[in-house]
Amino acid sequence: MVQSYDVLLKRLRSQLGASGAKTSGNRLELPDPAVIWIGNKTIFRNFLEFPRLLRRDSSKLLMFLAKELATAASLDGDRAIFIGRKDPNSFAVLINRYMKQAVLCPVCNSPDTHEERVKRLQFLVCEACGAKSPIKS
Ligand SMILES: [Zn+2]
Repeated sequence: MVQSYDVLLKRLRSQLGASGAKTSGNRLELPDPAVIWIGNKTIFRNFLEFPRLLRRDSSKLLMFLAKELATAASLDGDRAIFIGRKDPNSFAVLINRYMKQAVLCPVCNSPDTHEERVKRLQFLVCEACGAKSPIKS
C-alpha cells in the first residue's frame, strides 16, 4: 500500500519535472499538504487551503479523500482529521487526482472552472474556454 503510493508519487514528480508543457496551462499553485500523525490519527493541517484555492466545497474534497483513504474524516477549523495513520505522501497524489477529475478543464487544462448541476448530471464548466464537460461521479 505505502509502496504503491511512493511509486505513484515518484511517477507524478518525474512527469511534472520532465514535461512542464503538460501543466503550463495550469497556473494554480497549490501548497504542499502539511500532514502529521497524532496518536492513531492523521492530521492534514492546511487542508482548508485546498478547497479554497480549487474553489470547491470543502466537504466534497474531504469526502473524496476519506473515500480514497478508506477511512472516516472530519473537519476541525482549517484542519482535516482522518482516522488511522495514513501515508502523508498520499495526500498530494489524491489532491492531484481530484483536480484532474473535478477541477481542471479537460479541453484546455485551465483550473478556472466551476461545477454546474443539470438535473442529476454534474458538469464542469470552464471559464477560460467555455467547454462544458460531464464529471464522473
Ligand atoms: Zn477550458
